[in-house]
Amino acid sequence: MTNDLVRFEGVEKRYDNGAPAVRDLNLAIQRGELLSLLGPSGSGKTTTLMMLAGFEQPSTGRILLEGRDLVAVAPHRRGIGVVFQSYALFPHMTVAENIAFPLEVRGIGRAEREARVRRALDTVHLPDLGERRPAQLSGGQQQRVALARALVFEPPIVLLDEPLGALDKALREEMQFEIRRLHRELGVTMMYVTHDQGEALTLSDRVAVFRGGRIRQLAAPRTLYERPADAFVAGFVGENNRLPGQVLRMELEEAEVRLDCGTVVLATAAVGVGPGSRCLVTIRPERVAVAALRAEEVGEGAVSARLEEAIFAGDHLRLRFSLGEGEANRSVVIAKRPAGAGLLPTPGGAAALAWSLGDAVAFPIEG
Ligand code: ADP
Repeated sequence: MTNDLVRFEGVEKRYDNGAPAVRDLNLAIQRGELLSLLGPSGSGKTTTLMMLAGFEQPSTGRILLEGRDLVAVAPHRRGIGVVFQSYALFPHMTVAENIAFPLEVRGIGRAEREARVRRALDTVHLPDLGERRPAQLSGGQQQRVALARALVFEPPIVLLDEPLGALDKALREEMQFEIRRLHRELGVTMMYVTHDQGEALTLSDRVAVFRGGRIRQLAAPRTLYERPADAFVAGFVGENNRLPGQVLRMELEEAEVRLDCGTVVLATAAVGVGPGSRCLVTIRPERVAVAALRAEEVGEGAVSARLEEAIFAGDHLRLRFSLGEGEANRSVVIAKRPAGAGLLPTPGGAAALAWSLGDAVAFPIEG
């Protein structure tokens, strides 16, 4: 018995004559997990969701739900709950009628319907709003109703397409907690589409990072953040310094890289990087150690820099450094420091930057 609830097998989708919107998709969604599809606009996330929901058909390949091929099954017979960004509630029906709708379609009797609607309203913490119309609710409340409607018939999987995209930041964060709570309490499998990497990291058990219709990496949030598979994922998930250069020498995994600004740094080489190759050195701002010293004074591995600017950001300081000599070829390195931590260089002053070898990764530059 496999733990896979859904499988995409060799799925490709072409609209009309265009380039494939999704290609070579092999993805298993495990029972009970919250899997996010993360990627920039146009990378194929919604197309993937729509094929599982049944609103689009794959051009090739199969999609299985609990081992059953879905391709010939109409959307309303798939038994999948869907929540969109625009709430898609029926405006002329009350909240309770909206939530009862999927039960009515399934021929569930009135008493049972009413009990389930009450339970669903309790689950999304709106016990008293059943008689309102959607227009009488706030955006966050409408989205809770949409969630209740997607959950009320106890589908094996709920698909959410940018469900919080229309909400402001505070409400979005509140609803992220809400979705996590529902996922945990109900144990329902969820597939969640977002272009917001912070949201994907916060919510997910696993994240599939899309680009150009393909999955670039599928991993738990921490792995994605700490061990991105390529330069794209390293740049898209979390903040990263990205310093272009060329590999001078390599010893095992350790690469000596001359950055385009002239500064030489050490980094761990990713697959595909060798002596002489162009690369992008990435390093997280919170992993850059800073000392108010000249590099010669701190010894091997440290790099000379100049502090251009220190920006107060409440709980931390953002320090912008430049590396290299000539004006034309400067590299910029951002470091994050807790507010009030230690002695800092003065703006315009010399500094030494250092990092552990494992925190700087040299990736091949993508064409
Ligand atoms: P995302 O959800 O990541 O923003 P989409 O799946 O919506 O990406 O789009 C992937 C690609 O498919 C894009 O190039 C988009 O323009 C194209 N596309 C999406 N929907 C349609 C459609 N109905 N007809 C034609 N092309 C489409």
